[in-house]
Amino acid sequence: MLGLMQDQPLLISSLIEFVERHNGDGEIVSRRVEGDIHRTTWGGIASRSRQVANALDCEQLLFSDRVATLAWNGYRHLELYYGVSGSGRVLHTINPRLHPDQIAWIANHAEDQILCFDLSFLPLVQAVHARCPGIRKWVALCDADRLPVDSGVPNLVSYESWLGQQSSDYDWPTFDENSASSMCYTSGTTGNPKAALYSHRSTMLHAYAAALPDVMRISAQDSVLPVVPMFHVNAWGIPYSAALVGCKLVFPGPSLDGKSVYELIESEGVTFAAGVPTVWQMMLGHMQTNGLKFSKLNRTVIGGSACPPAMITAFQENYNVEVLHAWGMTEMSPLGTLCTLKNKHLALPADAQLQIRMKQGRAIFGVDMKIVDGEGNELPWDGKAYGDLLVKGPWVVKEYFKGEGGDPLVPDAQGRGWFPTGDVATIDADGYLQITDRSKDVIKSGGEWISSIDIENIAVAHPAVAMAACIGVFHPKWDERPIIAVVKKPGAEVTREELLKFYEGKTAKWQIPDDVVFVEAIPLGATGKILKTRLRELLKDYKLPTL
Ligand code: AMP
Repeated sequence: MLGLMQDQPLLISSLIEFVERHNGDGEIVSRRVEGDIHRTTWGGIASRSRQVANALDCEQLLFSDRVATLAWNGYRHLELYYGVSGSGRVLHTINPRLHPDQIAWIANHAEDQILCFDLSFLPLVQAVHARCPGIRKWVALCDADRLPVDSGVPNLVSYESWLGQQSSDYDWPTFDENSASSMCYTSGTTGNPKAALYSHRSTMLHAYAAALPDVMRISAQDSVLPVVPMFHVNAWGIPYSAALVGCKLVFPGPSLDGKSVYELIESEGVTFAAGVPTVWQMMLGHMQTNGLKFSKLNRTVIGGSACPPAMITAFQENYNVEVLHAWGMTEMSPLGTLCTLKNKHLALPADAQLQIRMKQGRAIFGVDMKIVDGEGNELPWDGKAYGDLLVKGPWVVKEYFKGEGGDPLVPDAQGRGWFPTGDVATIDADGYLQITDRSKDVIKSGGEWISSIDIENIAVAHPAVAMAACIGVFHPKWDERPIIAVVKKPGAEVTREELLKFYEGKTAKWQIPDDVVFVEAIPLGATGKILKTRLRELLKDYKLPTL
């Protein structure tokens, strides 16, 4: 017997309809490429996203056709999120930090037909347009009078003139909730990038889950600043969850330096912000140097790479801001786990609470996880056994776009498919996940594993260290030994010996790095994460001093 409830598909358009009706005057504030601050409302976004949908109809784009963006976080990008997906097309957010060759490759692979870009990316568009014959219109996200003349880009229009002629009346179509809504290519450190293709259903379920109290805890009372880019895994789903709850949204545009982010947080009364550790590192540095405090910010979600405990403590003790450590990946829409305490932890002393908060947290309902050994046997949740982390759930990929890379899933005894994350982790008895490493970054020394994340976390707790990255280097006896590359804070001093001494008592003796290499900068990838492959290349001629 089937239930007798209404059969209404979960569609992204319902979010924008809902927020317009119930929170239409909710503010959307954007710092623009033009340099000014722009203000609109959810009602304004809804109206213009309908104009986007009409513009796409005029272009005769079919259901599931791809529309790409090369854009910062801002209101126009948000209008495209809703106008493109809501009308049944697929929004392909491209990471502008990728190499032009990669951008051309993925635009062709995705079969993008229209590409909308912020003016800061005009040089990129000029570099790739000739290699993207499938793109029949290039839309510059600007007013008509700012459209560059003699750009050399064919079929170029300004977004405002493209929208200007369109009506803001539009009936959002109804279709299967499993239809594709948006896509995002993984950074692909080896081989060609592969795309996660999200559906309306997966996006909606993720949006519900992300707003929950033990997840991002977003409500209509919040003013939310996603520093995480809308070009990478949909800014962790915030553009959708924000509409679901009707909160104020604040977009940083291209200005991601510590000073600009801090000023926006203060001027817009931001209560909740989301970003990767490198962004917060810059902001905390700026605040410390200038003796600044937050007036309204009360929590921040930090993920994308391991959040050093020193950062959690700095936020909490110096600024009274709760850090929610999160783990996820492109293939998971992206949220998998988020770290909040349970009721029984509230009475624990601060130190014991920090031990929990350092971890990447508990699975969100909708995500199943397990750790397995080399033979695929499930390992215990005892906080000690570490193994390959596998996940499954309705917002986890089952295969990549166009079947690239074959079937990624690993079947269990019941025939259910699990997605191998490529991460190595422990899970404790309370269900808290701790990422030990990417499986390819873990250092294998004398048959034992050393977590490069642990080694980095200790280094960045030193007051003179701005950034640190640990890699394994060849050792004839131990196979690999860890070394740590370190960027010093401006004006700060620390010697190799002082830093190695700093490790004593903080980790097992055999895990202490064999050497410290001071560097000017550590290479970062397109999503702000440390690029260990590049660091290994840079240090390829390095030899351990002990050899
Ligand atoms: P991406 O798909 O580019 O977002 O990268 C996902 C990967 O980033 C994960 O598989 C992890 O290796 C890493 N990652 C994400 N969040 C965290 C975290 N909180 N701690 C450690 N690693 C993380």
